[in-house]
Amino acid sequence: MENLHSLTAHKLKELMARGETDPSAILEGVFARAEKVEPKVKAFVLSGKERARKAVAGTARKNGKLAGIPVLLKDNLCVKGEATTCGSKILAGFKPPYDATVVRKLEAEGAILIGKANMDEFAFGSSCETSCYGPTKNPWDTACIPGGSSGGSAAAVAADETIMALGSDTGGSIRQPAALCGVVGLKPTYGRVSRYGLIAFASSLDQIGPITKDVRDSALLLSVIAGYDEMDSTSVDLPVPDYSNALVEDLKGLRIGVPKEYFVKGIDGEVEASVRAGIGVLKSLGAEVKEISLPHTEYAVSTYYIVGPAEASSNLARFDGVQYGFRAAGADDMIEMYIKTRSEGFGNEAKRRILLGTYCLSTGYYDAYYLKAQKVRTKIREDFDKAFSVCDCIVTPTSPTPAFKIGERASDPLSMYLSDVYTIPANLAGLPAISIPCGFSGSGLPIGMQVLAKPFDEETIFRTAYAFEQGTEFHKRKPNL
Ligand code: GLN
Repeated sequence: MENLHSLTAHKLKELMARGETDPSAILEGVFARAEKVEPKVKAFVLSGKERARKAVAGTARKNGKLAGIPVLLKDNLCVKGEATTCGSKILAGFKPPYDATVVRKLEAEGAILIGKANMDEFAFGSSCETSCYGPTKNPWDTACIPGGSSGGSAAAVAADETIMALGSDTGGSIRQPAALCGVVGLKPTYGRVSRYGLIAFASSLDQIGPITKDVRDSALLLSVIAGYDEMDSTSVDLPVPDYSNALVEDLKGLRIGVPKEYFVKGIDGEVEASVRAGIGVLKSLGAEVKEISLPHTEYAVSTYYIVGPAEASSNLARFDGVQYGFRAAGADDMIEMYIKTRSEGFGNEAKRRILLGTYCLSTGYYDAYYLKAQKVRTKIREDFDKAFSVCDCIVTPTSPTPAFKIGERASDPLSMYLSDVYTIPANLAGLPAISIPCGFSGSGLPIGMQVLAKPFDEETIFRTAYAFEQGTEFHKRKPNL
């Protein structure tokens, strides 16, 4: 059967159940597709061909929820014995001695891991340009960035080089690239998915989540990776619902809030028009739409750029050339070895985050910056608590603009940081949020719409997103590669 690579996991499961295809045909289909388009897209940093073929031939669990389904991992997820670099030279040669919990869960359900996806260095970025491997390209226009930091994962799903992928999201890194590549990306509630084996960026914000071709696959992949894990004390011990029950086409009685602070100066006209049209579709499906206010929205980016780098500077202290990864040559003593290793091993954006974070945490500045940011973070969460007393979910744009050109913002960190104005608040508040395709720009670039809900209410997100998807055709379009 041709074009297996372009199908969703749930469709492939159906075909396998009817005996019309098998894991080996699917895997070879995906590899053949990657062979053809990868020179243009550059989404992979490590191909797991041999391991994948072995898994298909031997151990794949035939009855698992993801039996025989190819899944691509962001390169910050540890796989035992496989190179894991976070897109950074400083982790060159590092092979983790253990699997991330999500990796273990995927394999237990029969998923076939096909390799590692490119990303911004240590997930610092919105464009995939800070990777030590060079940028991934947007499959819809290879002169453009795919978004970031999970740009490789999103581009590979959009280009049909994999069936599903995992990304991580600290300030938008799953949702923004999903929006810019025209696929579905979900950041689960903080605590829904174990972070064990995810190389940490900002531990109070990071979550792992699915990047998929449609909402049903997102629900399927979340059901596999979610749940309590004793190896991550921030994972929450709540039962994992059967998310497929939430996939209904009826939105009657659903109250949707649209925050007025999200439609202000800086939003691209085509993005605003597509999202407003999308809200119209939700209304026509029976939802009740009302304007709400999230008054502290304007402080979210500055708050994030204190909390995020503060935690990052502390998490990255371990990369010092002693235990693993890269060590610079030619140092005469230990201090010089640290300095040379970190100077040569980290890229510019990583150094910028370490400097920002160290500054905000130093004596004299801690109260003025870090503590203040934590207080504002609470205010932002309270805005959402209040909003959710009058609505069940919130709909916004995912990114203020469609994909921009490679190089356009690379030397202007502030304009890059503003790519995440709409996605950062969900991380600061710990909320689940999805991005789904809701339109295209005049030049054919995808536009994404974001749906947020209360903590642990991924079901309302899936219900809203699924109904929207069934009522529209945007998710069916494919890039012309
Ligand atoms: N783009 C944001 C940043 O640069 C978010 C990254 C992320 O979610 N990992 O920090």
